[in-house]
Amino acid sequence: MEANGKSASAWSPSSWRSKPIKQEVIYDPAALSTSLTKLAHLPPIVTPHEICKLKASLRDVALGKAFLLQGGDCAELFDYCSSDPIDSKIKLLLQMSLVLIWGSNKPVVRIARMAGQYAKPRSSPTEVVDGKTIPSFRGDILNGFPLEERTVGPERLVQAYFHSASTLNYVRAQLSSGIADLHNPFDWGLGYVRDPELQQKYQRIVSSIADSIKFMQTIGADTAGQLQTVDLFTSHEGLVLEYEEALTRKLRHPANYSSSVEKPATTASPVEDSGYGYYNTSAHFLWIGDRTRQIDGAHVEYFRGLENPIGIKVGPTMDSQELIRLLDIVNPRKEVGKVTLITRYGADKVEKLLGGHIDAVNGSGHVVVWQCDPMHGNTHATPTGVKTRSFTSIFRELSSALKIHTDRGSSLGGVHLELTGDAVTECVGGSQGLDEEGLAENYTTFCDPRLNEKQALELAFLVAGWVRG
Ligand code: PEP
Ligand code: MN
Repeated sequence: MEANGKSASAWSPSSWRSKPIKQEVIYDPAALSTSLTKLAHLPPIVTPHEICKLKASLRDVALGKAFLLQGGDCAELFDYCSSDPIDSKIKLLLQMSLVLIWGSNKPVVRIARMAGQYAKPRSSPTEVVDGKTIPSFRGDILNGFPLEERTVGPERLVQAYFHSASTLNYVRAQLSSGIADLHNPFDWGLGYVRDPELQQKYQRIVSSIADSIKFMQTIGADTAGQLQTVDLFTSHEGLVLEYEEALTRKLRHPANYSSSVEKPATTASPVEDSGYGYYNTSAHFLWIGDRTRQIDGAHVEYFRGLENPIGIKVGPTMDSQELIRLLDIVNPRKEVGKVTLITRYGADKVEKLLGGHIDAVNGSGHVVVWQCDPMHGNTHATPTGVKTRSFTSIFRELSSALKIHTDRGSSLGGVHLELTGDAVTECVGGSQGLDEEGLAENYTTFCDPRLNEKQALELAFLVAGWVRG
C-alpha cells in the first residue's frame, strides 16, 4: 500500500477515469474515439532517454547544483507553430539562461512552455460576449478563440499532436543547426533601457558573458562542442487527460538510468514491472495546475503513475498538510527532484505563505525543486478592464521568494515565467516604461499577459544581479 492508502497496482494510464474530475470536457463520443485511436497509434513525441536526462538535471537543481528556467506562452496557439515565433522564443530563453548562468554560477536547465501548451483551465465554462453566453476559450486543443469556433472539436486533439511534433521538430533542427551556437555574437539590443546607469550595468553583464565565451574558445575549452548547442526541454499543463492518456506508453527505462536507485525495498511504485515504466511521451515535463490538484481528483491520480518529472502549482489556498500528502501520492519513492513545486502566491502573500510550505516540505523528507512563478498571483485588470501584470509586482514576488529561501537555508531552484520573444505590450513596467495606456499597442495574448522580450531579459538581469549579490 502507498501513503495514500491505495493499492499500488490500481494505477493505469486510464485509472483517472474513475475519479472526480475538474475542468471536465464533454466530447462527441464517436469523434473522440476516432481521435484517441489515432493518437494511441502515433509515435512518441519525446523519448524516455530525454525524459530521464531532464529528470537527472532536475535532481541537480533540487540539490542546489543547477538553476531552472522555464518559460513560454500562457496559451500556445496552433498558429504559433511557425518559424519566427519559435526562433524568437528559443533565442530569448537562451539569452536569459546565459544571464542566469552568469548570475548564479551554476548550469541552467531550460524548459520551454512550448510544443504542447494548448490547454487552458478556465474559471468559468462560459462567458458573455455582446450579451450572448458562449463557451469560454479552452485552448486550441479543445476549441478555437473565434466566437464561431467555441464548440469542442475532438479532432483538435490530433491537431495538437501534429503541432507539438512540428514545433519540436523545428526546435531540434534549429538547435542542431547552430541557433544556440555561442560562437555567433548575440544582438542584445539594450537601447530600450532609458536609465543610463541601468543600461551600463546590463552592458557590463553582457560584456562579461561575451568575454567568458571568447576566453573558452581561445583556450580550446570547447572540445566536446558544448558551445555549439544546448538542451531545451518541452512542457505543458497536463490538463486534457484523454490526450495525455493516449500518449502515455509503457516503455523500457533507458539503459543508463535505473528507476530503482532510490527505491526503498518496502514501498512499491505504481508500476511494479521493473525495467519498464509509464512515460508521458507528449512532453518532457508536465505540471498539474492550481485548479486541478485535488488529492482525490482525476489529475493527481493520472500524474502519480508517470516516470516523467512533474510540477505542481502551489497557490495561496494550498494547506501545508495537503501539500505533503500530495507529494507522498505523486512521489512515494521520494525521488530527489522528481517534483517541482511551482509557487504562485502573489507579491502580497508570498511572505505569509512560502515559509510554512518550505518548513513542511523540509520536515517530510521530500527534496523538491522550488520554483517561483511570479506571474499567476499578480494578475489584475486596469480600470478599463484589460488583464495585465506589473513588472514591479513580478520582481517583488521573485525577490521575496529568493530571500525567504535563503533565510531558511533552502534554495530557490528556478523561475517559471509567461513570456514571448515578440514585442507585445501586455505587462506594465520595466525599463521601456510601458504604462496602462500603452497596453493597447500590441496586446495579442488569448489568455494571460506575457512579458515581452525586453521585460523578460530585464527580469533575468535583475535576478542574476540579486543572486550574484
Ligand atoms: C498557467 O500556468 O497558465 C496557469 C493556469 O497557472 P495556475 O494553474 O497556476 O493558475
Ligand atoms: Mn497563465
